[in-house]
Amino acid sequence: MGLHMLNAVDMELYTGLQKLTIKNSGLRSIQPRAFAKNPHLHEIDLSGNRLTTLSWQLFQTLSLFELRIERNNFNCSCDIRWIQLWQTKGEASLDGQQLYCMNKDALVIRLHEMDVTQCDLPEISVSHSNLAVREGENAVVTCNGSGSPLPDVDWIVTKLHSINTHQTNLNWTNVHSINLTLVNVSGGDNGFPLTCIAENVVGMTNASVLLTVYFPPKILSLVEPVTHHEHCIEFSVRGNPQPALNWLHNGQTLREVDFIRTEFFQQGDITEGCLLFNKPTHYYNGNYTLIATNSLGVAKETVHAHFLEQPFPEITDYFVSADFGVSPTPPISVTHKPEEDTFGVSIAVGLAAFACVLLVVLFIVINKYGRRSKFGMKGPVAVISGEEDSASPLHHINHGITTPSSLDAGPDTVVIGMTRIPVIENPQYFRQGHNCHKPDTYVQHIKRRDIVLKRELGEGAFGKVFLAECYNLSPTKEKMLVAVKALKDPTLAACKDFQREAELLTNLQHDHIVKFYGVCADGDPLIMVFEYMKHGDLNKFLRAHGPDAMILVDGQPRHTKGDLGLSQMLQIATQIASGMIYLGSQHFVHRDLATRNCLVGTNFLVKIGDFGMSRDVYSTDYYRVGGHTMLPIRWMPPESIMYRKFTTESDVWSFGVILWEIFTYGKQPWFQLSNTEVIECITQGRVLERPRVSPKEVYDIMLGCWQREPQQRLNIKEIYKILQALGKATPIYLDILG
Ligand code: AMP
Repeated sequence: MGLHMLNAVDMELYTGLQKLTIKNSGLRSIQPRAFAKNPHLHEIDLSGNRLTTLSWQLFQTLSLFELRIERNNFNCSCDIRWIQLWQTKGEASLDGQQLYCMNKDALVIRLHEMDVTQCDLPEISVSHSNLAVREGENAVVTCNGSGSPLPDVDWIVTKLHSINTHQTNLNWTNVHSINLTLVNVSGGDNGFPLTCIAENVVGMTNASVLLTVYFPPKILSLVEPVTHHEHCIEFSVRGNPQPALNWLHNGQTLREVDFIRTEFFQQGDITEGCLLFNKPTHYYNGNYTLIATNSLGVAKETVHAHFLEQPFPEITDYFVSADFGVSPTPPISVTHKPEEDTFGVSIAVGLAAFACVLLVVLFIVINKYGRRSKFGMKGPVAVISGEEDSASPLHHINHGITTPSSLDAGPDTVVIGMTRIPVIENPQYFRQGHNCHKPDTYVQHIKRRDIVLKRELGEGAFGKVFLAECYNLSPTKEKMLVAVKALKDPTLAACKDFQREAELLTNLQHDHIVKFYGVCADGDPLIMVFEYMKHGDLNKFLRAHGPDAMILVDGQPRHTKGDLGLSQMLQIATQIASGMIYLGSQHFVHRDLATRNCLVGTNFLVKIGDFGMSRDVYSTDYYRVGGHTMLPIRWMPPESIMYRKFTTESDVWSFGVILWEIFTYGKQPWFQLSNTEVIECITQGRVLERPRVSPKEVYDIMLGCWQREPQQRLNIKEIYKILQALGKATPIYLDILG
């Protein structure tokens, strides 16, 4: 009782006030900014007072849920027209209230019957709906407010960056016009809504002009990557129009691929994102330049990225200019050291004469003192010299690089592969006339007259392979079919390789390793005799039994019937795994496991059949990195590609690829990619996709073989067990293959 006027000071202490009731108090007026400090007010009860008028501006900053104003002494006038409008719209719960006002004739009428003329909400118009300007330019935009009572007009531009904005008022009798001049427009104001308001006692109307500012790109940030699992060069770029983003790596255009790609999101004119690297190696170290371009300009900034130390600097020569996302793509440049060529040649020429004599002497010495196995091929290996090898299944090896690979496989391990194998050359293999002596007695000898060639089967790196009949080989049969390999070019190195393979094979005896009967060294050419595997190499066999296989019927190509079924595929894989378990037990690292190096006999009998002779026929499966070095990179794990590390685990990786070959009917792994792209993919951790006919369980084995960490790969015994179990359970899958 007795509160006649409500002032701002009465209210300013109650900043958190939500509900205000001043009822039946004789309140006559409320100061214009009385609720300025009470932003949370949402329920106000002013009923039963003596208010004659009330302004909407009192409540304009509040979100009113309820405003009760019944039983006051309002005068009918334009001043309370807003209450009438709110009541009609049902705002602030005014619609349910009995509101009255007293007109000029001192009659109390219902508020909604009040009729005041020349009393409406302002009208507003702006000169542009969109205003587009270039950064640095000036612009003028006009806002007109009209109506009765004539409204005040204003631009709300307090947060605008553009400097020197100013307003000019032009007032006419029925229009209030206001010009907003933007001077030296800033790119920071792009997207800013320029809002103009027009207000009178009835209320407020507004209109907005969207300001579009075009400006050249700016790189706001470019952050050096931190070495975590995820690698990202983070950036933030502004520009309008939205800039196109490109990268340079050490000054060369970076071609984005799956594992190096830009990911970003756009918010207004800001592009934020990352140049993402999936498991980057040292090839990706270097300077990265971000280039942001739009029609108004270009911005560039460079940051240095260091992902990994280069493990073997000498290998860089082979890959440094490889196409790992850098375009234009220089071909892999191979540094071939001339002095080492000379070295290689001089070994061949200069030492050839001495080699045989030396080897004979050493052979005798070693035979006499502590040789543990027949030809020094098994068990701890005595290395007789540091001479660069000629050794490998991938023979005629580089004289360009030396690697620690043989050591990686452990002291007990003979590595059969691409770099040197510490074997003791058997001097008896080098025969007169070709620097090749007679074979050693430990390798079985077959007389030339006992071999009758029938037809050619194929050609490998050593020479041609023939089907032949061999007499007096078996005590029970007079003659039997055999495959014979003839050494085509009996150089010293080739003789050594020939000898090594013979020794190796003599010592390897297992159901799933091709049977080696012996050598024929009495005359020309040198010959190795193997069991004959009727269906030839597994790769050819798979292709011949795949969906693309064609045969000629009456001169017309026709599809063959009878693709391999799942159980047969599993059977093939299980046998190779079995051969590999044996190789592992003998501490052999094969290094070149692939279907082309397996042979198929009758009844799906599969054997690991080649220890290094198939490069000529399948030359595209190998990648020449040095003058001579041929690497089967598509079958190799990252550590073998990058660091020439070959282990039992790297053989497991290759086995995974064999599985993939089997389930794609002999497709070349990564057939759609060039060698350099394959290197890029494998080193970045990409793996082959699941073949269409491969069940998930089989693909899981492949993935288990392709773990990046060698220790995390499945071991071959586990693989064998899983394959065997799957083989037993295959009927349920047979449908899938159709
Ligand atoms: P290689 O020199 O071992 O690569 O053999 C070349 C080709 O001769 C192979 O791809 C096979 O097609 C064939 N071949 C090699 N060894 C045998 C064998 N023991 N039985 C039947 N075919 C063979």
